[in-house]
Amino acid sequence: MACKRTWIRDHLSRDGNHLLVEVDPDYLKDRFNHQGILADVSEKVMKAHGTTHEAAMKIILDVRPPKNATQMEKDSAEFFYGMLHARWATTTMGIKQYREKWYNGYFGVCPKLRCGSNLIPIGPDSDPGLSKVKLYCYRCNDLFHCENSELDSAYFGPNLPQMLRMMSPKEPFSRVVYFTEKIKPHYIVDEYDQLVNPKNQVKRVASSIRPQISVNGAGLGNLCRKPESGSEEL
Ligand SMILES: [Zn+2]
Repeated sequence: MACKRTWIRDHLSRDGNHLLVEVDPDYLKDRFNHQGILADVSEKVMKAHGTTHEAAMKIILDVRPPKNATQMEKDSAEFFYGMLHARWATTTMGIKQYREKWYNGYFGVCPKLRCGSNLIPIGPDSDPGLSKVKLYCYRCNDLFHCENSELDSAYFGPNLPQMLRMMSPKEPFSRVVYFTEKIKPHYIVDEYDQLVNPKNQVKRVASSIRPQISVNGAGLGNLCRKPESGSEEL
């Protein structure tokens, strides 16, 4: 039997929304879960979404078709789904969904040389409008930019990786896939915290404390750390 088409599934299938999981409609309907959702937002966010909560929820729950809604109401639907998603993600069911995806490497692997552990989304800021979603490596304890998603950090929150770890105490959180030519890092961060394209990357920093390791002529292992003061670029 074909899956029923819903606003939520359409939303998740859009580019960049693959980091989200499907929130249970019953959770979205429960008004208790909406308590204080706009309590700490900025004036700008309040102005954009403060009056469209009801209309947005009707769109999310397929009570009202999006084609009959204004652009502001459609934007609010994405916003409120994201904010409720952050709460859902740390519930037992949300963690279960994230655990399965993380375990299978759905969110990608750590680009650091000799790591390759599976990554998980994290939102460094729990307030909307401050930053974008990042990806976290349990093994390196590092955050990476996600080049294929512009979702707001607040749609995930800062506690997701820790909750997953707490609720899966027997899980080996350093799943290691050693770097091979088959693993292509598609998002790496240079020493100025800028996203760089690994195809164009050249040798950068030969740190005095870390040996320079080259793979196929590119020193990818040094790109995720800021250089020590006084170190020289090659
Ligand atoms: Zn790593």
